[in-house]
Amino acid sequence: MNHDLIVIGAGPAGYVAAIRAAQLGLNVACIEKEEKLGGTCLRVGCIPSKALLQSSHKFEETQKHLEKHGIEVSQVKLNLKKMMDRKEKVVSELATGISGLLKKNKITAYQGTGQITAKNKITLHTSQGEKQLTAKHILIATGSVPTSIPGVEIDGQGVGTSTQALSYDKVPDHLVVIGAGVIGLELGCVWARLGAKVTVLEYADRILPGMDAEIAKEALKLFKRQGLTFKLGTKVTSAKKAKNGKCLIQYQGAPPIQADKVLVAVGRKANTQSLGLESVGIELGPRGIIPVDDRYQTKVQGIYAVGDVIDGPMLAHKAEEEAVACVNMIAGKYGHVNYDAIPGVTYTNPEIASVGQTEEQLKEAAVKYKKGTFPFLANGRAKANGDTQGKVKILADEKTDRILGVHIIGPHAGDLLTQAVAAIEFGASAEDIAMLCHAHPSLSEALKEAAMDVAGQAIHK
Ligand code: NAD
Repeated sequence: MNHDLIVIGAGPAGYVAAIRAAQLGLNVACIEKEEKLGGTCLRVGCIPSKALLQSSHKFEETQKHLEKHGIEVSQVKLNLKKMMDRKEKVVSELATGISGLLKKNKITAYQGTGQITAKNKITLHTSQGEKQLTAKHILIATGSVPTSIPGVEIDGQGVGTSTQALSYDKVPDHLVVIGAGVIGLELGCVWARLGAKVTVLEYADRILPGMDAEIAKEALKLFKRQGLTFKLGTKVTSAKKAKNGKCLIQYQGAPPIQADKVLVAVGRKANTQSLGLESVGIELGPRGIIPVDDRYQTKVQGIYAVGDVIDGPMLAHKAEEEAVACVNMIAGKYGHVNYDAIPGVTYTNPEIASVGQTEEQLKEAAVKYKKGTFPFLANGRAKANGDTQGKVKILADEKTDRILGVHIIGPHAGDLLTQAVAAIEFGASAEDIAMLCHAHPSLSEALKEAAMDVAGQAIHK
């Protein structure tokens, strides 16, 4: 055998798995088809979108919100090229960092496409030809790709996915976003802040499906206030580039609308098509996912899968946790992922973050619960910062007081959420959070107050 383990894919699932396996003493190789390591998350997902969210936030803040702090600025100008160059630099530096980590851990990095041909065999296709590789274990971590809908012709120019929307060379006058999920909202906000008119068309009658409905409703109100237009309950039937260079979008019950760019953000599907899985008898599930057992092993012994290619939320941190758990188990150690404590964050302004059950899920499961909320408007630090939008909501079991779900919309919600993730992981009660001494003044006090509110004892509400 060439290797103990070959990982296919060098995204957050793949490179983390490779590093962990090397730490455990395995002879590891990692195959990646792209020149830059890091996967969708690093190259065309989480990292570049956060770079643009940060830059566009600074632009909007300088233009509109510094004045209330007594800072007067004039002639604020956008240099989109420079903004994009900064984003690329962030991506390149992080990708180089991953290459360095693979080298440091003595992992063999192959550039090319890996195709499974038998239980322990992979053909590596490269620009220079083919190479046969063998390994005791194979881990599939090839991630996901954007999906589309019938009638929507993705041309990569006018009508495109998040990949194109991360690199427009000018601010579109009118951007139509199809899908009010995480991608549609994050990138819709970026371009709205930079001056585009943004119209979001969403099939459901609400935004952020799966998110706690009360929090999603609050988010919708705030996004509308920021100038985004929403058409909910809207089924897009076609979108394509027209002869005049504009994009034409048609949805049921209305005349077509025109836009300069269309961002299709209607979900992603597992990237499992050309892996050769049929050659070893692995059948794919819905949206191309690979069925695995609780050790992340497919029906073929020695072939494993983690991250976006298996069931569950398509999130980089979920993928990383699975990667470590899977490799630990391959090496004969303990591995486990607590799927009840996976955080989810939308990096808009304000951020929206949640962990555990939503109120709707608890109702559906007939779980009796208590609820505590606290608005950032009543939090001293938020007031001092001039950033008071949103609230914290904590759901706890009616009898045991155990925390079942925490949902935050507000400043730095993504970072604040970690306290709630720890609470759920450790089986904490709302009273536990209420009794923790939180620094004053801090945004985290809003969590303490929401926890106190579960017992009807919030001080500042
Ligand atoms: P999504 O599933 O979050 O949202 C897609 C939206 O498109 C849904 O609201 C759906 O109702 C809508 N839709 C579907 N068909 C439609 C139609 N015909 N017309 C109008 N609307 C339609 O998908 P996404 O935003 O593309 O994100 C894909 C994945 O990437 C998700 O799993 C997401 O969690 C992940 N992601 C996460 C982050 C983050 O954690 N910050 C950021 C980006 C992406």
